[in-house]
Amino acid sequence: MDKERFYSHFGEIHNIFEVLQILDWDQQVYMPKGGSEQRAESFSTLSKIIHEKITSEKTGEIIYAFEKLAETDWDRAHIREAKRSYEKQKKIPTQLIQERAKVASITQSVWEEAKPKSDYKTFLPHLKKVVDVLKEISRCGDEQNPYDFLLDDYEPYITTKILDPLFENLKNELKILIQKYKVKNLEESLKPIKRNVSKENQEKIGIFLLNEIGFDFDRGRVDVSVHPFTSGTMNDVRVTTRYSDDFLPASLFSILHEGGHAIYEQNLDKENFKYPAGESCSLGIHESQSRFYENIIGRSRGFSEKYFSKINKLSSNAFEGIALDDFYRAINTVYPTFIRIEADEVTYNLHIILRYELEKKIIKGDVKVDDIPDLWNEKFEELFGIKPPTFEKGFMQDVHWAAGLMGYFPTYSLGNLYAAQIKRAIEKETTPLSDFVKNGKLGDLKEILRNKIHRFGRFYPSNELIQKATGEPLSETHYLDYLKEKYENLL
Ligand code: ZN
Repeated sequence: MDKERFYSHFGEIHNIFEVLQILDWDQQVYMPKGGSEQRAESFSTLSKIIHEKITSEKTGEIIYAFEKLAETDWDRAHIREAKRSYEKQKKIPTQLIQERAKVASITQSVWEEAKPKSDYKTFLPHLKKVVDVLKEISRCGDEQNPYDFLLDDYEPYITTKILDPLFENLKNELKILIQKYKVKNLEESLKPIKRNVSKENQEKIGIFLLNEIGFDFDRGRVDVSVHPFTSGTMNDVRVTTRYSDDFLPASLFSILHEGGHAIYEQNLDKENFKYPAGESCSLGIHESQSRFYENIIGRSRGFSEKYFSKINKLSSNAFEGIALDDFYRAINTVYPTFIRIEADEVTYNLHIILRYELEKKIIKGDVKVDDIPDLWNEKFEELFGIKPPTFEKGFMQDVHWAAGLMGYFPTYSLGNLYAAQIKRAIEKETTPLSDFVKNGKLGDLKEILRNKIHRFGRFYPSNELIQKATGEPLSETHYLDYLKEKYENLL
């Protein structure tokens, strides 16, 4: 009885959450512009229902009643996760949750208008309100480490104590590697991939590649949106992409990236995906799957060898006359740029570390919001050797802070680190990944990932999952080794 009650209660929460995701997907793919206010009201009602359901006394009762009766390991894992989230949510006053939703929604609209004009004067007072709420929320947990309370929302069980030494080492090494591997002339390096490919052809390439990596079209679909994303789980997983007429890599790599997220969702445990420990492990692990397909597979030499001629064919020969090697080099161009989402594998993590270091200080209260614009530029110059010419290309480039997301950025870098570590572990056990790609065995690779990562969902915390999947604790060394091995050969 208590067992049934537990599963039906959390199943219901999951079902409402699925509806929310579909509404969000629809907003980004189909909804007419005029629908945004009406949609916001639906969102707000559903979010309130979910929050009330998660934090109600009844939820506590249901969890604790089932705790004594847990029979299986999955039961115990679900209880652990349900309790963790319940107890955390209970610590945050509802009024703060509502306040965050409200100021974040306003600040996001302000940001959209202000960003293209680098209008930091309009933006900062709003950002300050977001930061104030986040500071208050962060102090609902361990007051000594407020940032950890925020980080834990996105990467449970990972703390600044774990990240600090890791990121410090990564930063110091990357600064050296960037100088070593960066190309002299960016325009020149990108020439081989600046070709016109029609939207129809890009669509064909995307569908072809999703099939190759094992995306199940009976349980998923592809659409177009301004910012590519993945939504849904198990039997209804939707990815989006975007098309840029003269730059195929934009859709090519976003399809592989979102495909990695989607394959993860399609391969969670069928019996458990609706319950607390059955969902994806963390944002970092999620990102490891997307970056695995985008970078480790998609930007590998094996991938170019296997697919370049096919891509050329599907592009109506847009790459005629381009040597395979030049294509491979071009998609791996290393060059420090101002924009995080355009960054290559070598520079990317420095963008994250800059944000991570700043966020920690902002939440702690050591950096005032008014000081962010200049401090950002200073730190950027220190890390990359160049200074953003505008605030649009500086601290205003990402939506995250405006949207109330601090503690989120580190998960992108964790994704890179996890992915490289998983690669190393698979290669130790089987053969180099390039063999999988060259021999058309990406389906087998998907099975390995399903066995090592996907099916466990949140059964283990991310650090334990990585330990179990790779035989080692999380470390930055595999990522650095991966970069060195790959880019030495590109010099
Ligand atoms: Zn992603």
